[in-house]
Amino acid sequence: MSICITCEEEYSDKRHALGYSTCLDCGEAEARVISQGRANAKLREMTPYLSGSLAQPDVLFDSRPGYNTGYTPGKPAKSIKS
Ligand SMILES: [Zn+2]
Repeated sequence: MSICITCEEEYSDKRHALGYSTCLDCGEAEARVISQGRANAKLREMTPYLSGSLAQPDVLFDSRPGYNTGYTPGKPAKSIKS
């Protein structure tokens, strides 16, 4: 049996032969951290204003037609007159 470098539990020699130096549990925990890091990076990439990489709100989006006017696609716009 091989010894996990993280928790010092024994794990399968077959797993060691595949190149892993951690047991299945530690390997899964490590993989989750990596996976969440990648997902987080991707979310930051998709929301530059919220994550702080864009200094100010995108003016282009704030002045788009229908913004803050109560208009919902598929429904008639609220009448401002009357
Ligand atoms: Zn372990």
